[in-house]
Amino acid sequence: MCGIVGYIGSKKAKPILINGLLRLEYRGYDSAGISVIEGTSISTFKNKGRIKNLMDVPGINDLSGKIGIGHTRWATHGKPSSTNSHPHLDNENKISVVHNGIIENYSEIKDFLIKNGYKFLSETDTEVIPNLISYNLKQDKQNDALKLLRAIKKTCDALKGSFAIEVISSILPNNIIVVRKDSPLVIGKGENENYISSDIPAILSFTKDFYLLNDFEYAVLSENDIKFYNSELSPIEKQVKSITWDATAAEKDGFEDFMLKEIYEQPKSIRETIGSRIQKNSNCVIDDLLITKEYLSSVNKIFLVACGTAMHAGLASKPIFEKLCKIPVEVDVASEFRYRDPLLDDKTLCIFISQSGETADTIAALKLAKTHGSKTIAISNVIGSSITREADYSLYTHAGPEIAVASTKAYTSQIILLDIMAIYFSEILNICSSEEINSIKQEILDLPAKLEAVLKNTDKIKTFAKNVYKEKDIFFLGRGTDYAVALEGSLKLKEISYIHSEAYSAGELKHGPIALIENGVTVISIITNPVTAPKIASNIEEVITRGAKTFVITNQNLENSNFDELISIPNINPLISPILSVIPMQLFAYYISKEKGLDVDKPRNLAKSVTVE
Ligand code: GLU
Repeated sequence: MCGIVGYIGSKKAKPILINGLLRLEYRGYDSAGISVIEGTSISTFKNKGRIKNLMDVPGINDLSGKIGIGHTRWATHGKPSSTNSHPHLDNENKISVVHNGIIENYSEIKDFLIKNGYKFLSETDTEVIPNLISYNLKQDKQNDALKLLRAIKKTCDALKGSFAIEVISSILPNNIIVVRKDSPLVIGKGENENYISSDIPAILSFTKDFYLLNDFEYAVLSENDIKFYNSELSPIEKQVKSITWDATAAEKDGFEDFMLKEIYEQPKSIRETIGSRIQKNSNCVIDDLLITKEYLSSVNKIFLVACGTAMHAGLASKPIFEKLCKIPVEVDVASEFRYRDPLLDDKTLCIFISQSGETADTIAALKLAKTHGSKTIAISNVIGSSITREADYSLYTHAGPEIAVASTKAYTSQIILLDIMAIYFSEILNICSSEEINSIKQEILDLPAKLEAVLKNTDKIKTFAKNVYKEKDIFFLGRGTDYAVALEGSLKLKEISYIHSEAYSAGELKHGPIALIENGVTVISIITNPVTAPKIASNIEEVITRGAKTFVITNQNLENSNFDELISIPNINPLISPILSVIPMQLFAYYISKEKGLDVDKPRNLAKSVTVE
C-alpha cells in the first residue's frame, strides 16, 4: 500500500506532486520519489524516509516540467532505501513507473527479463514493470500512437497480484498512462490540466470532478483530454463524478474512523498476505524461509512470542501448528519470556510477532533466544523494522499501514501468515494427508469472500452495542480457538471503550468466575467448533439461568437456543476460524466506543508502537 500521484497541465508539476504526496503520506512513508518529463527526457528524484527528505534532494527545485508522477512508498518487496523507492525506470531510462500493490509473479518475470538481457537495480517487485513494458514495446512492430498503450496492456496481462500504475515515457512525452487492478486510483479533471491520485482528498483542493477507474481500465491523459479504454483497448466513455464531501472525511475513504476503514480492509489484507504463498494443487511457498526437513524434524518445541494483540494471534494459531506439525507450541508474552529463563536451545524454534517490528520487549526476547542458539523468525508488517533486522528469517504480513491504535487488520494478517507457516512446515515434514492439507488450503483461499459476507451483516452487532454500551463489565467466553478470539474481543473492548471485561475459557466458568454473573450482566460467546459446541451451549445456559444477557457468534446450528442475540457467521474449519469470528468482536468494540462518543482511533494511554519496556 502506498500513495501515488500524477499531474499533467500547464503548471510546474513538481510542487503539485509534492503537495499530493504530503496528503497521501498516511498510506506509506518509508521513501518517496517523483519523475518529471523535462524536455525530451525523464528526470527522477528519490529519497529514503518521509516526503520532507525528498524535498531536500539537491536539484529537485530546478524541475520545471509540466508532466510528472510521484510515489510515497510502503515497502512490500525490498527494504526502504533510495534505490528501492519509486519511480522505477527501464534499462534505457525511457519509461518511468510508479506502482501501488504487489506483483506476485515478479520473480518469474524478472528471470525472463534477465535471460533477455535486462538488468535490475532494485530488490522490488515493481522494477519488472518498466522493463517488461520496454520488452513488449520492442516486440511490437507497428508504429502508431497506441504503441506504448499496447505494451502496457500486454505487460498488465502478464502481471499477477494487485497494481495501480502510472507510466510516463520519453517516447510519448505529452501523456501519462494509468491502469489499475485491485489497488486504488482516481483521475481528477481540471481546466487544461488533469490529476491522478490514490485517493480523492489528496487532490480535492485542485478539482472536485473525478473519474473512477475499474479494474483493467486504461486512461491516457493529456493536458486537455482523457481517453479511456477497456481491458481489450477498445475506447470507452466514462462519466465524471462530482465530489461534495469534505477532505478529512474523504481521507478515510468515506469511513468515519480509520479503525472502521481498517476493519473493512480485511478481505484485501488477507488476500494480499496469502498472495501466492498458497496455491491450489501445489505446495506452499514462503520466499526467504529456508527451513529443511532435517532441521524441522529436530525441533522439539515452537515458541510464539509477542505482546498484546500479536500475542493473541499466537494463541489463535497454536492449535494449527500442533495439529498439522505435531510439534508442541508454547505461546508467551514477550515481557515474561525475556525474564523467566525459558528453556531454549538449538531444538527450539522461536517465532516473534510484532506489527510495527519495533516492540521493545519482543525485540529483547528475540535477542535472548538467539544467544541460546535457537533459530528465530520475525513476523512484522513493516519492512526493514528492527525485529526483522535481528531475526534469522523475516516474514511480512501485507496488511498495509495500520493507523488506528487498536489493531484489527494486522492481527488477522498475522494469524493467516502463521497458519500458512504451519501448513508449510507440515508439508516439509510430510505428516498429514494431502486431503487434509488441501481442504485447509481451500478454506484459506475462500476466506476473503467469507469475510466480505460477515462485513455486510452488521445491523445486529450495532443494535447489541447500543443496548449494552453503558455496562460496567462484559464477559467473553470461548473454547479452543474461540477462547483465543474471546481474549482478543475482550482486549479490543478494553482498549477503545474503557469497559472492564474478562475473557474465560468457557469450561473454567464454574471454577470461579460464575460467581460474578448476576442479573443483567452481558456475556458474549463464540462457538465455531462442532465438537465443543454442545458444551459451551450448556455453559451459556448456566449464565442465562443466573440472569445474564447473552450474545452469541456462531456457525453452529443453535437457532433454537435462549440467547438474546445470535450472529451467524459462515462455516469454517475451527483451526482457522479466528480470522472470521473476530470480525463481529472488532465491530462490537468499535460501535460501543462510538456510542460512548470516544476517540476510536486514538484511545487514551495507548500508543501504536510500544518501543519501551
Ligand atoms: N510492491 C511495491 C514495493 O515494495 C509497491 C509497494 C507500495 O504499494 O508502496 O515497492
